[in-house]
Amino acid sequence: MLKLDAHPTGRHFLNIPGPSPVPDRILRAMSLPTIDHRGPEFGALGLQVLAGMRTVFKTRHPVVIYAASGTGGWEAALCNTLSPGDQVLMYAGGQFAMLWHKIAVKLGIQAEFLSLPGTDEATGLPLAWRHGVQAALIEERLRADAGHAIRAVCVVHNETSTGVTSDIAAVRRAIDAAGHPALLMVDTVSGLGSADYRHDEWGVDVAVAGSQKGLMLPPGIGMNALSPRAIEASRSARLPKAYWGWDEMLEMNQTGYFPSTPNTNLLYGLHEALDMLQEEGLDAVFARHQRWGAGVRAAVRGWGLPIQCADEALHSPVLTGVVLPAGVDADALRRLILQRFDLSLGMGLGQLKGRMFRIGHLGDSNDLTLLAALAGCEMGMKLAGVRLAGSGVQAAMDHFAAHAA
Ligand SMILES: *Cc1c(COP(=O)(O)O)cnc(C)c1O
Repeated sequence: MLKLDAHPTGRHFLNIPGPSPVPDRILRAMSLPTIDHRGPEFGALGLQVLAGMRTVFKTRHPVVIYAASGTGGWEAALCNTLSPGDQVLMYAGGQFAMLWHKIAVKLGIQAEFLSLPGTDEATGLPLAWRHGVQAALIEERLRADAGHAIRAVCVVHNETSTGVTSDIAAVRRAIDAAGHPALLMVDTVSGLGSADYRHDEWGVDVAVAGSQKGLMLPPGIGMNALSPRAIEASRSARLPKAYWGWDEMLEMNQTGYFPSTPNTNLLYGLHEALDMLQEEGLDAVFARHQRWGAGVRAAVRGWGLPIQCADEALHSPVLTGVVLPAGVDADALRRLILQRFDLSLGMGLGQLKGRMFRIGHLGDSNDLTLLAALAGCEMGMKLAGVRLAGSGVQAAMDHFAAHAA
């Protein structure tokens, strides 16, 4: 373990898929003096970040910003729209879907889990954790719910535990094809700001996001993006809520203020992040992450190791899961890499614990920082005795050299 009083030279390599490395520009913006959250300057800031977030979510409808983490956003989505005992359908594609389900159960919701059954032969891993949300299964389940007891369908857009994204528009089409009135709730905590997300076009009713992943900020902000149907549902939803209530938020937000003290300095950071996203253009930001993902996957293929996401069309642009040969302890490998090279990698979560590690390619990164991270992985795997087919670093260098940004 690194001691807190140790000062390694150079920057720590934070290659976990969130919190992501925060650009210096954002850190500097956050160092401005804290202002009066009831003063005129704050009202202007509030209006700007709320409008900016609507652009990033691609919605004309309200966005709610909480001093919270993504988990708070999950709870807010559920308790604002549902009543005790309500039925919801959740798709189990990874550990974050499991955690959202756990919250729903704690809130007294009847949360049904749906997923692809079976195990992948080559890796022994659950199939559902290697593929995206199966819209056809959702459609089938909703068709069987003739009485429309299911109030919401909950899916994860970018499953951070696996590196698999899902086709959210297909889920909306499935709900509509079944003629079912369930709300569509989407967790885009790790995708928003780095992976393409279109709230209105995809017909999402409640989206959940956070600050510390695709938006390049430190942890501390949780968000909801709403739809008119979600707001309508919130008027009769009876789950207890106080802090999370949308009603007071939406009212105060009209003038840029918040019911309680907002995290002023993080909102400076958010303002700066929004400027950066706008200057580069969202499409260019998404393409940049796609290109990084392709380079990192070239490395994993160069090592001859399986990628956790088994669907070529659904690779996450913000992280890649690397499956290790059976018998290799992925957590011991990560500890070795941290000790030797000051590089943090994401651990295998839930059923994947010890079987794989995750490389984050988001936040303040570039080709060379990613190559350095890949070099840390490659050296560590060699030191740990993992047999590699070849140099992933060389494969990634070839990829980045051949594919200009
Ligand atoms: C990180 C994450 C969360 C939880 O967010 P916290 O900020 O840790 O509370 C939820 N969903 C996904 C997909 C995540 O990546």
